[in-house]
Amino acid sequence: MKQATKCVQSGWKPKNGEPRVLPIYQSTTFKYDDSDKMADLFDLKDNGYFYTRLANPTNDCVASKIADLEGGVGAVLTSSGQAASLFAIINIAGAGDHIICSQTVYGGTYNLYGTTLPKLGIECTFIDQNADDAEIEAAFRPNTKCFFGETLSNPGVQVFDIERFAAIAHRHGVPLIIDNTFATPINCRPFEWGADIVTHSTTKYMDGHALTVGGVVVDSGNFDWDAHAERFPGLTTPDESYHGLTYTKQFGKLAYTTKLVAQLMRDLGSIPSPMNAFLLNVGLETLHLRMQQHCRNAQAVAEFLQQHPRVAWVTYPGLPGTKNHELARKYMPGGTCGVMAFGLKGNRDDAVAFMDRLRLIAIVTHVADARSCILHPASHTHRQLSDEQLQQAGIAPDLMRLSVGIEDKDDIIDDLRQALEG
Ligand SMILES: *Cc1c(COP(=O)(O)O)cnc(C)c1O
Repeated sequence: MKQATKCVQSGWKPKNGEPRVLPIYQSTTFKYDDSDKMADLFDLKDNGYFYTRLANPTNDCVASKIADLEGGVGAVLTSSGQAASLFAIINIAGAGDHIICSQTVYGGTYNLYGTTLPKLGIECTFIDQNADDAEIEAAFRPNTKCFFGETLSNPGVQVFDIERFAAIAHRHGVPLIIDNTFATPINCRPFEWGADIVTHSTTKYMDGHALTVGGVVVDSGNFDWDAHAERFPGLTTPDESYHGLTYTKQFGKLAYTTKLVAQLMRDLGSIPSPMNAFLLNVGLETLHLRMQQHCRNAQAVAEFLQQHPRVAWVTYPGLPGTKNHELARKYMPGGTCGVMAFGLKGNRDDAVAFMDRLRLIAIVTHVADARSCILHPASHTHRQLSDEQLQQAGIAPDLMRLSVGIEDKDDIIDDLRQALEG
């Protein structure tokens, strides 16, 4: 099936007489007639539902639609994108281990990997994704467990050279994990370029309407854990909390996702509500249509901003003449996303005055939904930092993150024009 068909039809496959639309299984628990069946479920000997903290049919249908869209073998929904970024790592790394991450990733991921994971004993080295191979390879250690980057970084919209970094990760015997939130599987399928695991904040384009916070972890099934067995003992040696079963032996290509559910969801419990999974599924049904409109609109808006005399700079991968654009053409020939970063000539106060004049484009701490919105990190999310500290964090004091929605592009441009010239 093509991506558009999967958006609409994957996941829920009703049998004769069943509801056409995915039902919301709003139930914490599931009933069985005999206790042996239930015991087998607890031992992972049989498939079936028993408690929604581990698995729920509504959630599973939506996860399998996303797995289909990404071309993966399995997926697990999480309660937020942050939970997906956490679980993707701690499913294969623990105290005493080390990970490598691009330094341009989303601020929430940067804090999680740079501040919170070290408190749990997992160290992170942040690398410059524009550095040469030798410098990046120097970051690998014997206890490194994965390499993490974003297809399109938030908020800088830098394109990650997936094929190059997959080759580097594999040379060092670790998987490449890609946060594919901004590109979505409509515009990029990282597994086709060698990535092993994909995460998303489904809160963004997948939901698309700013209704639900959620995340997902998808496994390609391609990474050979057994070939690096000593590096990934959690997957390749017996799990005593399940009577000594070994995930790679028992579940093959589904080892990683099965462990994530059976251990991490069981113990840490970050499932979305079935109601939220249902809403996410409604969003996914139009993902392919919305992404086209986001990209068309953003291209027009970026071109408008670029030629405006009050605008100092614009970063959008759809604008030609940069390395970022060349990478975008390789990995996302059909378009990238609706998000761009730009700055005005002037200072912080000029940026604030410009934003206050906007009428249609709302100032919100969100990005990548149907409504156009804008954020100025220096006066919002990062307002406690000085200009100097902002520069160190890689955020220009004048950087505004504009998320172009699916309204008519002329209305969005008119709003920007009157605010620029007001
Ligand atoms: C928003 C975001 C996250 C975090 O997701 P939440 O759903 O807000 O927890 C992670 N990665 C990227 C790229 C994001 O934009």
